[in-house]
Amino acid sequence: MNALVYHSADKESWQKMPMPVIQYSTDAVVKMKKAVIYETDIPVMNGNALSLTDGRIVGHEGVGVIEEVGKAVSNFKKGDHVLIFSTTSCGVCANCAQGLYSLCEKGGKMLGNVIDGTQAEYVRIPYADGSLFPISADADEGVLVKLMLHLNTLAKKKVV
Ligand SMILES: [Zn+2]
Repeated sequence: MNALVYHSADKESWQKMPMPVIQYSTDAVVKMKKAVIYETDIPVMNGNALSLTDGRIVGHEGVGVIEEVGKAVSNFKKGDHVLIFSTTSCGVCANCAQGLYSLCEKGGKMLGNVIDGTQAEYVRIPYADGSLFPISADADEGVLVKLMLHLNTLAKKKVV
């Protein structure tokens, strides 16, 4: 598949990468339809994220369709349309139980950082049940990705 891959500060390339596969029973693999480029992607690509290493697919958010789910995923099935937000959350740890999903002890801000992200044809989403949001098949995906950008901006300003 094609993906946008980080190599070093200011050096990324659109290149062939292996297809993601289910690694854990709580994973889903999503076929990307639209991905978001947000202002936080820019400093990451400039080399300011120490956790980002050579060969990592970048991208935090997007909209797509479920391609495959692990055996423990119960909220989604192949063909479901989903919104991918920047945070993956297990849904059961102490922080998730308090609604502090971005501080999930097993997840958090992983996509396009410590695991491959959404700027690709396919992406693996850990803890799919707690991390993905269902959307209708006829949802306006362009509006949804613009809404995600707006919510990110509000969150940065601590409005939400
Ligand atoms: Zn958690």
